[in-house]
Amino acid sequence: MTSKSFFDNTEIAFKLKSDSELERAYFLFKMIANEPLVRIGTAATKFALNLHLPVEGLIRSTVFDHFCGGVNEKDCMSTVDALYEAGVSSVLDYSVEGKETEDQFDSTLDKIVELTEFADEKEAMPFSVFKPTGLGRFSVWQKMTEGKALNESEQQQWSRIKQRYDKICSTAHTCDISLLIDAEESWMQDAADDLCEEMMAEYNKEKAIVYNTLQCYRWDRLEYLKEQHKKAKAKGYKLGFKVVRGAYMEKENDRAEEKGYPTPICASKQATDDNFNEVMNYILDNINDIELFLGTHNEASTYLALQIIAAKGLFKNDSKIWFGQLYGMSDHISYNLAAEGYNVAKYIPFGPVRDVMPYLMRRAEENTSVAGQTSRELILLKKEKERRNL
Ligand SMILES: Cc1cc2nc3c(=O)[nH]c(=O)nc-3n(C[C@H](O)[C@H](O)[C@H](O)COP(=O)(O)OP(=O)(O)OC[C@H]3O[C@@H](n4cnc5c(N)ncnc54)[C@H](O)[C@@H]3O)c2cc1C
Repeated sequence: MTSKSFFDNTEIAFKLKSDSELERAYFLFKMIANEPLVRIGTAATKFALNLHLPVEGLIRSTVFDHFCGGVNEKDCMSTVDALYEAGVSSVLDYSVEGKETEDQFDSTLDKIVELTEFADEKEAMPFSVFKPTGLGRFSVWQKMTEGKALNESEQQQWSRIKQRYDKICSTAHTCDISLLIDAEESWMQDAADDLCEEMMAEYNKEKAIVYNTLQCYRWDRLEYLKEQHKKAKAKGYKLGFKVVRGAYMEKENDRAEEKGYPTPICASKQATDDNFNEVMNYILDNINDIELFLGTHNEASTYLALQIIAAKGLFKNDSKIWFGQLYGMSDHISYNLAAEGYNVAKYIPFGPVRDVMPYLMRRAEENTSVAGQTSRELILLKKEKERRNL
């Protein structure tokens, strides 16, 4: 069997989609495969939202409903239940971005704690998730990463960030819910990594509760992983890592060029793919020390993981190995994996339309790549439309 044929069953892949949802998905992916259209569309949308033009309804009935579970967690529940019936778990992702005030960070904290406690009651939700910049100002993360001195107000902000982290991690520990911490831009990430390391040392003594994220488009991540492994072994705690390729490539390359430092990004897509596969392999080689959440829409890497799992004699449903895709993308991977008995979870973003726009823009931009998954999504959607005689 090849990776393509493994993921090719469109009847399983799209069984939760009604005919009209299937048509909408096809239309949407066709539109976002068109790069100039996406560029104009995202600029026009930002402009319209800034002017408070009434475009939210249009966004909701198109991209938002396809990629998000709703504006609040209650909206997401029918999706969570339907996914779970198909063997797919959910990670509710409060995707509000770009906040700047302490009150807003506290309300995000409350939301994540509430979702973590809720996950404890809901079998379909084995993970909780948050973004470092959802809990504190980007500029404070950046200054910490750059090793610059913080002024008094920033020092207070930093200690509140640490308290927020501790509150969420201790809640996850009490509820026995695994906690995925997203990774963001490299110029703020070192401070987030260091804080996450502290949390792992504190809360991962018996098993991985806290997971950091490795962005494998960064060429330094395999070394970082090995260092983390050494430290965790020496101090006696488990590691958890979500492994992804990385979502900020253009921004990273542009900034490195503008500021004249070597880019942290691998030299080519192939180099990123190789790095991703090596990181994944290293973790699967050390699965008793490091738990894995493989966040990808890449069929070849996913299939390689299945081959390594089989070669090592690991169970398909080993509780230390999870696969994850984003809601609205790569259903053929999620549902076919679940049908074969692997652990799979979908990230389901939610939040007010305006606040999840940065997330939606990233998805639109990522899906414009003609060589990427979009053409594959389109082929499979078309195949299913034909199978249903639509
Ligand atoms: C469950 C889940 C959680 C995620 N969490 C995060 C997160 O916390 N932080 C984050 O940054 N992203 C996150 N992502 C997004 C992820 O990083 C990727 O942007 C996205 O999944 C596309 O990569 P891929 O592995 O699916 O597949 P592919 O389509 O095979 O890979 C595309 C990726 O390859 C890399 N790439 C493309 N061209 C080049 C090039 N020329 N040179 C070098 N590299 C290149 C880029 O990273 C690009 O996004 C998450 C994704 C999933 C599914």
